Amino acid sequence: LTSLFPDSLQTVQVAVPGPFQGPLSYLSKTVIPIGCRVEVPLGNRTVVGIVVDHENPDDIDPKKLKPVSRQLDERPLLSIDILSIAQWMSRYYLHEFSSAYLLALPALLRKGEVPAASVETRVKLTLEGKAIDPAQLKRSPKQQALLDILQRADQLSMEQIRQLGFTSAHLKSLETKRLCEREEVEQLGEIKPTGDKLETSLTLNSEQQAALDRLTQDIFTPFLLEGVTGSGKTEVYLQAIEACLRKGKRALVLVPEIGLTPQTIQRFQRRFKDPLVALHSGMTDKQRQQAWYQASLGQASVVIGTRSAVLTPIPDLGLIVIDEEHDVSFKQQDTLRYQARDVALKRAQQANIPIVLGSATPSLETLHNALIGRFGHLLLPNRAAGAQMPLVETVDMRKQQNRNGLSERLLLRTHDHLRDGNQALLFLNRRGFAPSWFCDQCGWIADCVYCDANLTHHRHSNTNICHHCGHREKPAHSCPSCGHSPLQAMGTGTERAEELLADLFPDIPVIRFDRDAASTRKKFEAQLEKTQADGPAIIVGTQMLAKGHHFERVTLVGIWDIDTGLFSADLRAKERMGQLLTQVSGRSGRGERRGEVLIQTYYPENPIFTPLLNHDYRTFAVKLLDERKKAGLPPFGFVAVIRSDSAFADRAENLLRSMASYLLSLKTVRVLGPIPALLSRRAGKNRYMLIVQAEKRSALHEAVVPLHSHYPRQEKQVSWHIDIDPAELS
Ligand code: ADP
Ligand code: ZN
Ligand code: ZN
Repeated sequence: LTSLFPDSLQTVQVAVPGPFQGPLSYLSKTVIPIGCRVEVPLGNRTVVGIVVDHENPDDIDPKKLKPVSRQLDERPLLSIDILSIAQWMSRYYLHEFSSAYLLALPALLRKGEVPAASVETRVKLTLEGKAIDPAQLKRSPKQQALLDILQRADQLSMEQIRQLGFTSAHLKSLETKRLCEREEVEQLGEIKPTGDKLETSLTLNSEQQAALDRLTQDIFTPFLLEGVTGSGKTEVYLQAIEACLRKGKRALVLVPEIGLTPQTIQRFQRRFKDPLVALHSGMTDKQRQQAWYQASLGQASVVIGTRSAVLTPIPDLGLIVIDEEHDVSFKQQDTLRYQARDVALKRAQQANIPIVLGSATPSLETLHNALIGRFGHLLLPNRAAGAQMPLVETVDMRKQQNRNGLSERLLLRTHDHLRDGNQALLFLNRRGFAPSWFCDQCGWIADCVYCDANLTHHRHSNTNICHHCGHREKPAHSCPSCGHSPLQAMGTGTERAEELLADLFPDIPVIRFDRDAASTRKKFEAQLEKTQADGPAIIVGTQMLAKGHHFERVTLVGIWDIDTGLFSADLRAKERMGQLLTQVSGRSGRGERRGEVLIQTYYPENPIFTPLLNHDYRTFAVKLLDERKKAGLPPFGFVAVIRSDSAFADRAENLLRSMASYLLSLKTVRVLGPIPALLSRRAGKNRYMLIVQAEKRSALHEAVVPLHSHYPRQEKQVSWHIDIDPAELS
């Protein structure tokens, strides 16, 4: 009997957290379905893992395996389609095997918690509530609006009411008037999508209609929806989603990290009666887990989220939308370095459904795919509401008086626009008070002791801060090099700009957007709220401003400083700059008055500006594509960057040198380096990189995959990683 015992055990393959390149095998007395979580022993700990397979690799003796400690789920938490995408990701991005599987789960479930079926509070109208004319509540517009929506929707969940921008106080008032009542429902099964609407859709213009007609297919078709800012891309998404819901299928919408604000969510929730869930970093772990679980049970018809939402299990998925597809936040820059846009494409292909990538400034990769016909190309060349594109001009800084970099010309135009009661938006891609703290006698500049970078002076807190490692110190009073005092803040950051503007326009509110003034989602939203007040205002900030927010009343956009971007060594610097300029310019003049854009530069004759002055991002991008083609760079070739860092420069460099000679010996890839990273020292670590290029994706992968077995990820105080399809060559 005892000899039979091992045979009645099953082996399971489990994705466990840790530096493994595949799943680990364990024994189980029962058959545990693939996609369930288990607790398993690992070293002297117990960890939560995910069952990914049942087969046992031939070379493992079952007698040596340890048993699963506990099965956590009876039914799979991750569906087969998600498991297969995760498997693809772990092979493609070459990080720890389990990381993509774990990424698919919200944090609490990763820790082993039991997913809670949600008890939903529904709000329904009473007979009185159904009969009453909402106009009777016109003294309290919010209550009137809520009643109006309830009459159109029949019933709403508390979550929907919240997403629509109402508070429980609004609801209470209606309840006290006995117009509606609440009901607790335990939601177990799925909720069928209907596509029924709360508000009527806009009548599409002919370009929008043509785009919509092609989007409503039932097979895998990737599309680029290229439309200038304000061309009505969102309306196209909404109607494509409606068509999808009407077929009983669900939709997934991905937006950039900073783009997912209550306003964005409301825009989608206002349209449909169907439930929607949002997934983003501003939610608590508990909220995230609940939203994720609802989505996975099919209780949401629309799932809208940031990067990692791409792995949300959604039954009967019928459409994927990626808004602002060029945005860098779709690429994760640490651990599992995945590009959510590419993962979404893979997912759409596997699910055999359409996917639409929308942007006014498509990434070169996506544009290329559209130009060669691999993606359908949908164009919205005009602004939907009839607004004209803004007038764009450069301001030659060599011929201008300026105060902290603000030219006479931009100052005068700002004055004009504010006088007319409009808002002006000034863009300055540098936060802090001033980019450096410096001695005007000898030229000494305060450096970070841990990085190869200047410290940024922050006046408000009177500290010099390193923006690369976070190191802070009190600014020196006298020059450590020549003894001169006082020292000065040189250059202009958003904090100094705000101070200067407040000084120049004492009666006008100045609203600042950067990682300091809008450090949390809440603060960011509070700043956004301020921009909605009546009257003139100045909005000043970093690239946070370029991310798809509509500032309806901005008529003037000023680009304070863009020149540093002209000379960056990074592969994508020019692409980014063109996108940024176009996107920031697009914030202007969406309303009645024609917008105006002024670009301050010391290099007005630089050809990079020409197409942008004519609203011709396409010509600009095609030119860059040409340069990429000559260099064999993406999308014409494939690139991986291998980065190493160490407190000892020679160890970091030598590791890459050894890899380089191995890779070169293969004769299938080109290798550049090792070279010091753009920021060669950061947080006390010396950083090097190796650029690996190949014409074929497979050649690149075949070359770099074996590195993981030859070189431990952490050894002799050197750590290293591979970044496939890097967002930056730095
Ligand atoms: P995008 O997403 O391309 O920046 P939006 O979808 O936000 O553009 O649309 C810009 C503005 O134009 C919005 O105020 C929207 O309500 C309006 N709009 C969009 N489509 C139409 C249409 N077909 N008719 C009238 N107005 C429209
Ligand atoms: Zn000095
Ligand atoms: Zn530093």
